Amino acid sequence: MELRQLSYLLELLKPRRRVYLDHNATTAPSKAVRRSMARTLRKVPGNPSAIYQQGRQAARALERARQQVALSLGASTSEIYFTASATESNNTILKSLSDHFHPEKKRIISTPIEHPSVMRTLDYLESQGMEVNYCQVSEAGRVDPEALKDMLGDDCFLLCCMLANNDIGTLQDLQSIAELAHGAGALVMSDCVQAFGKVPVHLGDLGVDYASFSAHKLYGPKGIGALYVRKGSPIHPILHGGSQEEGLRAGTEGLHNIVGFGRACADVPQLLEEAARVEGLRNALREGLEALLPKCSFNSPMEHCLPNTLHVRFPGMPNSRLLAMLDSRGIAASAGSACSAKKHQVSGTLKAIGLDDQAARESLRFSLGIHSTSRDIRYTLRSLKACLEGRVRHVPLRSAAQLKDDLRCQEDLVLLDLSPRMLQGRLDPIPGSLRISFPSLNRHLDQLPKDKDLLVICQQGNLSYLATYYLLGKGFTRVSSLSGGLAEWHAL
Ligand code: PLP
Repeated sequence: MELRQLSYLLELLKPRRRVYLDHNATTAPSKAVRRSMARTLRKVPGNPSAIYQQGRQAARALERARQQVALSLGASTSEIYFTASATESNNTILKSLSDHFHPEKKRIISTPIEHPSVMRTLDYLESQGMEVNYCQVSEAGRVDPEALKDMLGDDCFLLCCMLANNDIGTLQDLQSIAELAHGAGALVMSDCVQAFGKVPVHLGDLGVDYASFSAHKLYGPKGIGALYVRKGSPIHPILHGGSQEEGLRAGTEGLHNIVGFGRACADVPQLLEEAARVEGLRNALREGLEALLPKCSFNSPMEHCLPNTLHVRFPGMPNSRLLAMLDSRGIAASAGSACSAKKHQVSGTLKAIGLDDQAARESLRFSLGIHSTSRDIRYTLRSLKACLEGRVRHVPLRSAAQLKDDLRCQEDLVLLDLSPRMLQGRLDPIPGSLRISFPSLNRHLDQLPKDKDLLVICQQGNLSYLATYYLLGKGFTRVSSLSGGLAEWHAL
C-alpha cells in the first residue's frame, strides 16, 4: 500500500467524537418529549374532532398542549393555532394579510435578513402585485429605527421583522420597532422561531400582532409549528377543508406532534436557565478562536445576540471544505440556514451586513445547545486548528438532499454503489448506479472515469468513506462520498 493511501486510512481509523453544533438548524427531541409522543401514539388514537369518548380524550390532549404553548409565550390559548411548521405559519400570515388588505393597501416593510420562508413568500407576493420594501440593517444586523420611521406610511399595512436571526444570531429591539409600526398604522408580524427557548419571549410585552414558532428548534418534534394571532387581529385560512383550529387550519391534527410541542414548551424555563451556561461555552469558543486562529473574524455581533450562536469567517478557507473536514472528525456545523444550504446560495443575511461573496463563502455558523460541553468546545478548537493547518485529510462529502438536487441537473455524475449484494435487509440502490463490491474495487479501477464526478455510495456511509480515501489515493480527484449512505437517501 502506498504511503498516501496509508495516511488516508490512518486518518479514518482515528477515534472520533460526535459534536453537534448546529442547534439553529434543529434539535433532537428531549426524552420527555419522546415519551409524551410515544404515549399519545399508543394511548390516544382518537380524532380530536370526533364527539365520542376517544375523540374527547384527544381534544383534551390537544387543548392541554395549546395551554402549555400559550403559557410559555405569555399568550392566551385562543391566540395560538397549530400548523405543520413555522414555514406554514409565515406563509399564512403574509398571504392571508395581503389578501385581506389588497387592493386598498399594498405595501409590506420587511428586513433583508429574514428566513427563506419569509423571503420567498415576499417574492411571491411581489409577483402578485404587492409592494415590498426592505429596511436596511447595520453591520450587526440590527434594524435602524430612524430608517424604519422614514419608510412607514399610510399605505403600509404590515411590518415583518424577525426577533432573532438564524444565521448570525442578532436580536432586534422588537418592542420599539412594533411601537413605531403601530404608530404609523401598520400591523406587526415577527418570526420568533430562533428566539423561543433561547431568550425570554413574552408576546404581550413584545406587542406584536402575529408571530411564528417551530417545535424542532427547542427540543420538540419536527413537522409542527404554531401561529400566534393577537386577539381581534385579522387572519384568514390559506388551506380550505375541515374546521380544525377554529377553521384557520384545515386538516386532522398530528396529535402526537402537538403533544410533543406542548411538552417541549413546558421545559422552556429550564432551557432559559441553561442559556447562561451555553453562552459561557459560546464565549469560550470565540475566545479560543481568537487565541488559536488570530486571522478569523466574527460575523455575529458581540451584544444583542442569541447566547448560543457564533458565526465565524475563516479567511482563505472555503466553508464547504471546512464543513467536510469537520464532518470527518464528527463535528456538525453549518454554512447557513438548512433551507438555503441546499441551493449553495450565499446567505442574504451575510450580504445585508456587508460581507462580499468570498467572505460569505468562508464563513461558518456554530450553534450550541443544552447538551454542549466544554470538552466539545476544546475538541472543536483542536480540530479547527488541525483543519486550517492542513493536518486533516479532506474527503468530500455530498448529502442525500444535495444529491437529489444534483441528479436533476448534473449529467456527468457517476454513482458507484459498493453495497454488498447478499446483505440481509439491504437498502435498494439508487437507479442507474454502477455496482461493484468493495473487495473487488481494486480490480475494477479501470472501469471508473477520472474525468467525471464520481459519488461513492454504500448502505450507511462508512464503507464509501473508506473507499473515497482509497480512490483519492489512487489519483481520482473528482470523487466524493454520500454522507449517511443509502439509509439517509431513503429517509429523505
Ligand atoms: N424561521 C426561522 C428563523 C428559522 O430558523 C426556521 C428554520 O430553520 C424557520 C423559520 C422554518 O421553520 P420550519 O422548519 O418549522 O418550517
